[in-house]
Amino acid sequence: MSNTDFALAVEDLTVSFDGFKAIDALTLYIDRNELRVIIGPNGAGKTTLLDLICGKTRATGGSIKFKNEEMTPLAEHQRVRRGIGRKFQTPSIYENLSVFQNLEVSYPKGRSVFGALAFQCDAEVKGRIQTVAAEILLSDKLDMEAGLLSHGQKQWLEIGMLLMQEPELLMLDEPIAGMSARERELTAELLQRICKNRAVIVIEHDMEFVKRIAQKVTVMHQGKILAEGPMDKVQADPKVIDVYLGH
Ligand code: ADP
Ligand code: MG
Repeated sequence: MSNTDFALAVEDLTVSFDGFKAIDALTLYIDRNELRVIIGPNGAGKTTLLDLICGKTRATGGSIKFKNEEMTPLAEHQRVRRGIGRKFQTPSIYENLSVFQNLEVSYPKGRSVFGALAFQCDAEVKGRIQTVAAEILLSDKLDMEAGLLSHGQKQWLEIGMLLMQEPELLMLDEPIAGMSARERELTAELLQRICKNRAVIVIEHDMEFVKRIAQKVTVMHQGKILAEGPMDKVQADPKVIDVYLGH
């Protein structure tokens, strides 16, 4: 496979904060329909890596190619338009709006349309909202005020808001934090559904959850990649046990 076939090619990526390298010459490739899990101890640089990919933080050096286009010169909103979606640790939904409205406002804005065209556009948005609501298990909650959802459902809604934009790369930072056991199970299934037609990167600590969803796992430590491969191989790696799993 040539480098141009990857959804994401991160090469030699570095960021320093006052001389401290939070990400240190890191290289990582993600396939187009891959679900990649990133694990590692606190402070390893996992969140910073997502910040760099989405453009919240600027790299000090190295390259981030998304579908073979260099992202490092682009602002955050330009990367969103290219198809990069990123969910932060705390859900940012509009608590006072309904689930339907939260999804509706997340539909990418095109040019304004009138008359019959506007009607057609409405139907298209509605159709998309229904598809996404089904994916995030909120089909029967469309009229509910988002603030009344459970913590887990709020997390799903935020994933749904990202799905409205049809990202080709979706990044989720600790998506199951604070969820019930049942919500965790459903989230594992949800992730398996949504990675079918896009690349997904998930940062997660819960090893039961990681085992359930993982295809390939990347272990980060001190801004670098410590190990990478299938879950069973990574779990048995003495380096990984030493810095992470042993604790
Ligand atoms: P993780 O998500 O793996 O727990 P982070 O990416 O949040 O780790 O942090 C990696 C390291 O970089 C930590 O030591 C953190 O204190 C540092 N760091 C992250 N962002 C900044 C920043 N904006 N300024 C200074 N240091 C930062
Ligand atoms: Mg983090």
